[in-house]
Amino acid sequence: MPNARLRDSAIADFEASESAVRYYCREMPAVFARAANARVWDENGNEFIDFMSACGSLNYGHNHPRMKARMIEYLADDGLVNTLDLHTTAKREFIRDFRETILAPRGLNYRIQFTGPTGANAVEAALKLARKITGRRSVVAFTNAFHGMSLGALAAGGRQSHHRSSGIELNGIIRLPYDGYLGAGTGELDRFEAMVRDPSGGVEPPAAFLVEVIQGEGGLNVASVEWLGHLAELARRLDALLIVDDVQAGCGRTGKFFSFEDAGIVPDIVCLAKSISGIGLPMAALLIKPERDQWAPGEHNGTFRGNNLAFVAATVAVRLWGDPHFLKSLADAGVRVRQWIEAMCEKFGATSVRAKGRGLFSGLSFADVAWSREIARSAFERRLLIETSGPYGEVIKIMPPLTIEPETLEEGLERLHSAMEIVLNDGRLRSAA
Ligand code: PMP
Repeated sequence: MPNARLRDSAIADFEASESAVRYYCREMPAVFARAANARVWDENGNEFIDFMSACGSLNYGHNHPRMKARMIEYLADDGLVNTLDLHTTAKREFIRDFRETILAPRGLNYRIQFTGPTGANAVEAALKLARKITGRRSVVAFTNAFHGMSLGALAAGGRQSHHRSSGIELNGIIRLPYDGYLGAGTGELDRFEAMVRDPSGGVEPPAAFLVEVIQGEGGLNVASVEWLGHLAELARRLDALLIVDDVQAGCGRTGKFFSFEDAGIVPDIVCLAKSISGIGLPMAALLIKPERDQWAPGEHNGTFRGNNLAFVAATVAVRLWGDPHFLKSLADAGVRVRQWIEAMCEKFGATSVRAKGRGLFSGLSFADVAWSREIARSAFERRLLIETSGPYGEVIKIMPPLTIEPETLEEGLERLHSAMEIVLNDGRLRSAA
């Protein structure tokens, strides 16, 4: 690593000019220049391993060679770049391949709405559509949820500091405990139904239930198959929509393309963003059951709904899901991370660390938030890019690209192990617990 003084001068320009809202760069003070799959280099040539994948928006790694080649070819041919929602050949190819490779084999029939290119915009569109269809105002969202930073999505998120920073009243959300929250389970869903049905229960029937199958920002909390099935049934009985926010957990992060595949549920609406473009370009989409597609033309518009460069990369990404080699190495990597996590829990003990998440959407929850912070910092010093989540930042997220080479995965895990050893064996931090 460059010495501290050099590093400080390299980042001084950013600090002088960029808003105080900067976040990740404060924890990872380097200036990055190049990247390939799970490896990233700063401008001094230091090599890092990436266990963040830009918060799940680089599931296929940095600069996937086939996606990059296709994008270069597309631009060289003067392909259109932004086209609002006009028909283009690039969009047609994406839709066709997405139907054939992702939807059809899973028995899913959805219409696709390309929203503005952020996860938050996809969530806003889903909330609006559910309210429009049902004529109801409230949407059920869960403890520890995260759905984005625009006001509608923010209201649905659980984080109170985010609510406060919006500066106005956020309405239209009914909060329920997520599966496992302080021991909550299907009983809380049953009680909620009883309250809705009770003329004196004080709860109006909701337009929708908005749920993450695994809560990424909330600390890698996993909803059980049983709870999800119960939730889907409850939504059906109350004539409410089931919306799965697959912005972070989708596009293969849990080992399957959709996070809800193992649960055997079919949401009315699925929100996709982050890794849908494959290469980190902005793109988001809603998958809507055909009978739920009750938009009027132009009712949820936006300038950047036609990122054709994203469509051509996304088409290559979708095709990977028909590639047995990709599927095998994804499954192997998920198993390896799980084994490693179990070994760490055994080594450091259940009172210090707990396993969270699933597959390459996994992590470790630490008994003291000072440890997780320090481990992330120490991992950065060992040139591992990693982030924390959970209400207190107590969870270290392990989110390498799905395409990471086995040897790079091992190297990254070893760096994290060594960061954990340093921090957890440090008497000063331990006594702080
Ligand atoms: N939903 C979920 C589950 C997310 O994790 C995120 C982003 N972390 C969003 C929505 C918002 O996506 P974006 O930042 O692209 O608006």
